[in-house]
Amino acid sequence: MEWMIHGHEWAAQILQKHITQNNVRHAYLLSGAPGIGRRSLAIRFAQALNCTQPPASGEACGECRLCKQIAKMQQADLTITRSLEDAHSIKVEQIRELQLNLSLAPYESKYRVAILLNFHEATPNAQNALLKTLEEAPTKVILVLTADSVENLLPTIVSRCEILRLRPLSIEACSSALQTHWQIPKEESIELAHLTAGKIGQAVYYHQTPEKLETMHQLVQDVFDLLGSSLAERFEYAEKITDTKKKNVYRESIQENLRIWLSLWRDFYICTSGSEMPLTFINFKSLSQKTAKKLTEPVVYQQLLQLENALQQLDVNLNGRLLVETILMDWSIVNH
Ligand SMILES: [Zn+2]
Repeated sequence: MEWMIHGHEWAAQILQKHITQNNVRHAYLLSGAPGIGRRSLAIRFAQALNCTQPPASGEACGECRLCKQIAKMQQADLTITRSLEDAHSIKVEQIRELQLNLSLAPYESKYRVAILLNFHEATPNAQNALLKTLEEAPTKVILVLTADSVENLLPTIVSRCEILRLRPLSIEACSSALQTHWQIPKEESIELAHLTAGKIGQAVYYHQTPEKLETMHQLVQDVFDLLGSSLAERFEYAEKITDTKKKNVYRESIQENLRIWLSLWRDFYICTSGSEMPLTFINFKSLSQKTAKKLTEPVVYQQLLQLENALQQLDVNLNGRLLVETILMDWSIVNH
């Protein structure tokens, strides 16, 4: 089985070489934007390390029991550590539990593999606790950390890992990989490549959860409708999208809206400035161009600043509805 790591073949080759040359490091750090394919690479690596019938050295068959269990992230010698659902952070207690687990010899495979997802979400205490393991890693233990960027981790952690920085693919490379390896139709591949700015893991995720894509289309369409609506209608919309009792859900859904708005206004900016940059919402290209004709560059720029600002203010828990209303109030500009 090939590694199926499109766009990150160089990283897969390095890891494969470490296995074939019997030179596997104790710890790796896979950094890059969310959805870029960090976790897939970590899983493939774990399979290649522990496959019971490797077709060639450093490869995984994908068919044996261990390969299948690892793919499901449920194998006796594989530990996945990630933020607890509500806490949005990896706690020191989780690292202690992991360390206990790693102190045991592998149960049925060559290596115990610990994958720590989004380790930039670990508290400083948790990061410090992991340092001990990185410094004196038990033999037969491989740690694989993933993170948005190296900068968000303690330098002492980073310096003890072999770093592989994953980058997004070009729009063309992403869309052609989606067509060739996932058999996604051309038109959808092009849309997904634009939407995710070449982050293939995220693109595949959208393909597999069409309802998410559908919701996104609706939210984008809403913006075009809002831009031609009355103030009362816009305030009604603000009420609708900020009306829920659950606090976390509430914040996240506002965040999702604001991020979509920001991406769409970036598209407007690209259209008004005549830049060659790829649009995020390529399916809405002609609508965006039409809207952009009614706008000037400074007006769009002002909106971008305001949206960036709102996202930050939401982080420090400002009143979400007020933020949304303030933004929507300005959206009459398109009518004039
Ligand atoms: Zn296998």
